[in-house]
Amino acid sequence: VEDESRLADLIRKGLTEEGHAVDIAGEAEEGAHMIRMATYDAIVLDRMLPDYDGAELCSNLRRQGVRTPILMLTARDAVADRVGGLDAGADDYLVKPFSFPELLARIRALARRPVDVLGTELTAGNIRLDPATRRVWRGDEEIQLPNKEFRILELLMRNTGRVMTRDMIANYVWD
Ligand code: CA
Repeated sequence: VEDESRLADLIRKGLTEEGHAVDIAGEAEEGAHMIRMATYDAIVLDRMLPDYDGAELCSNLRRQGVRTPILMLTARDAVADRVGGLDAGADDYLVKPFSFPELLARIRALARRPVDVLGTELTAGNIRLDPATRRVWRGDEEIQLPNKEFRILELLMRNTGRVMTRDMIANYVWD
């Protein structure tokens, strides 16, 4: 959730190159809507948004029971601003301007948190998939899957028993 489109594009590009699918919202309300409609592994949330404060969005989400890890971006390196973000329920924060490798490292760290924070592994038959670590097992044997195959399997396992159309798969896997 970031209103500076150049920065948002840069973040999208970097995360996509690491194999993540990325949705961008330019305003808090739009972000809140997207977070209600889809399940995300992590949220990168800018504090200074055109409609209202990212910290307010963060505390709203936590009140609504959203436990997705949140990395907050703040333009001001004052203690009060950092504490405010964490008090609002963010898991971590980063002060702008930040280095891109650091942003990616912090997102990876959030994604490594214990399963009870992130939600559970997915299972179907004897297949087990961990969205947080991007690993898959058949029985006890780990399976190496290319990124797109992993995404397709993850989508199907999140929707066991439901029919997925070609468009739904394309939207999820190719964003
Ligand atoms: Ca901003």
